[in-house]
Order: sequence, then C-alpha cells, then structure tokens
Amino acid sequence: MEINLKGKISLVTGATRGIGKAIAIALAGAGSDVAFTYKSSEEKALALKTELEAMGVRALAICADAASFSEAQTTIDEVTKSLGGLDILVNNAGITRDTLLLRMSEAHWDDVLSSNLKSVFNYTKAAARPMMSKRAGRIINITSIIGLSGNAGQANYAASKAGIIGFTKSIAKEFASRNILVNAIAPGWIETEMTSALPEAQRKEYAEAIPLKRAGKSEDVANAVLFFASPLSDYITGETLRVDGGMAM
Ligand code: NAP
Repeated sequence: MEINLKGKISLVTGATRGIGKAIAIALAGAGSDVAFTYKSSEEKALALKTELEAMGVRALAICADAASFSEAQTTIDEVTKSLGGLDILVNNAGITRDTLLLRMSEAHWDDVLSSNLKSVFNYTKAAARPMMSKRAGRIINITSIIGLSGNAGQANYAASKAGIIGFTKSIAKEFASRNILVNAIAPGWIETEMTSALPEAQRKEYAEAIPLKRAGKSEDVANAVLFFASPLSDYITGETLRVDGGMAM
C-alpha cells in the first residue's frame, strides 16, 4: 500500500545526514511538505532543501540548536507561518559522547541530555499548540535500543534515550483526547556517521548478535516513521517500535 501524505506539513529535527535525512526524503517522497533543522552543517542543509524541492514539495531549512527551548519555539513559529501549519513532528536530533562513567565529565552528561532529551521536550511543547488547535497530529520520537537495554560506556546516552520512552508514553496519554498520537522508534545499529567510528572487531561482534546478521540502513528507520505518520497507525499511541534486525529482543 502506498503511503500518501500530500497536504501534510512535517518537521524533522537534525536532518542534514544519516537517519534524519532519510526521514526527510521519505516524508517528501510520500508528498508531505518538509521543514527540517540543523545545528552546524549549512552546506548539507541547503543541498537537502534543493533535493526535497526537486521532489515537488515545499522545503524549509532552519538553523536551530535542538537543545535550545527558545529556538524550538521560534522554529515552530517559522514553520507554521511559512508552510501553514504542522501535522507531523519527528524528534530525531541526537549526539553521543561515549565514555565510562568514571571518565564522564559533567559536560559529557549535560550535552547529551540536553541535545537528546531536553530537545524532545522543547519541540513537543512548541508543537502542541498548532496540533491541538487542529485536533490532529503525529509526534514520532527517535530513541534507541540502548534506552531499553543500557550499554557500558553510554550511561548518558542510555539515560537520554530511556527518558524519551517515558516521555513518549506520558505525552501519548496527555494528548490522546486531542487526537495527537505520540510514538517512539528504537533503532538498533544503523550505518551512519554516528556509528562510522566503530572498530572492525566491534562491527563483527554486533553483526553476530543481530538475528538478521547485518546493520540497518537509515531508510529502514524512515519506513517506520512513514508508518507512524500515516493512517496505517491510526489506533497506535505510546508505542516504542524496535527497528533493529531483532538485536534487542
Ligand atoms: P548523525 O549521523 O550523527 O546525524 C545527526 C544529525 O543531527 C545531524 O544532521 C546533525 O546536524 C543533527 N544534530 C545534532 N545535534 C543537533 C542539535 N543540537 N540541534 C540540531 N541538530 C542537531 O546521527 P544518526 O545516526 O543519523 O542519528 C539520528 C538519531 O537516531 C539520533 O537521535 C540517534 O541517537 C538515533 N539513533 C541512531 C542509531 C545509529 O545506529 N546510527 C541508533 C539508534 C538511535 P549538524 O551536523 O548540523 O549538527
């Protein structure tokens, strides 16, 4: 079945590369107008805007730090003013600062928690008004299987991603009466810049631990976003869907 999002307006945080970029392209491929944010990669952002427009949709690239509460509000204002509303929010922006707890600095902790978890609060809160006035909306939060299982050397990342899962369930309950559905996607090991530094030995070990025996692609995550953005998931809220080749089951 083809997913048709024509007439919808989407916002994806952190979309200059990797999973966010694949999500933006998938949403545009389904006919949605797409706004997206980035923090520093301006050249890549402008190239993506051009790519999305060539697909026949309206596109908006906004430089905004997802960790900033005020910039999130300004971003949502700009999207609703320029594109005419907001139907689908994908909270994707995220970073890692991996190290064992004994070596983890306060900055390692604060940077990850504010970029990965506070960002989801920032954008969800700012998106609530336009979605509530429409009495419709989809919020899709990108967490991680690390938020389900934990991982040595990633206490900050795991805490931020587990926090997203609790936040998703709470807001799903708060927003259900307004027909705003809130779900999370927990990718496993996906080949992107974020995971490109993994040493070869660790790659082999990870692949061995995955029932499907390979890393996932950004498009695998984008397909799950399309499902949560579309009427196919009309009766699903507060769910966390693993896209991990079976790794965390
Ligand atoms: P990536 O390749 O490192 O890309 C991250 C994107 O987020 C970039 O476009 C970056 O833009 C943007 N970004 C980072 N911090 C930002 C901020 N504070 N404000 C705005 N934009 C920001 O990462 P990825 O692998 O695609 O991961 C995307 C999401 O999936 C993250 O939430 C990550 O935790 C999650 N995830 C990834 C994997 C995996 O295996 N790759 C697994 C599970 C979950 P700039 O370059 O402009 O900063």
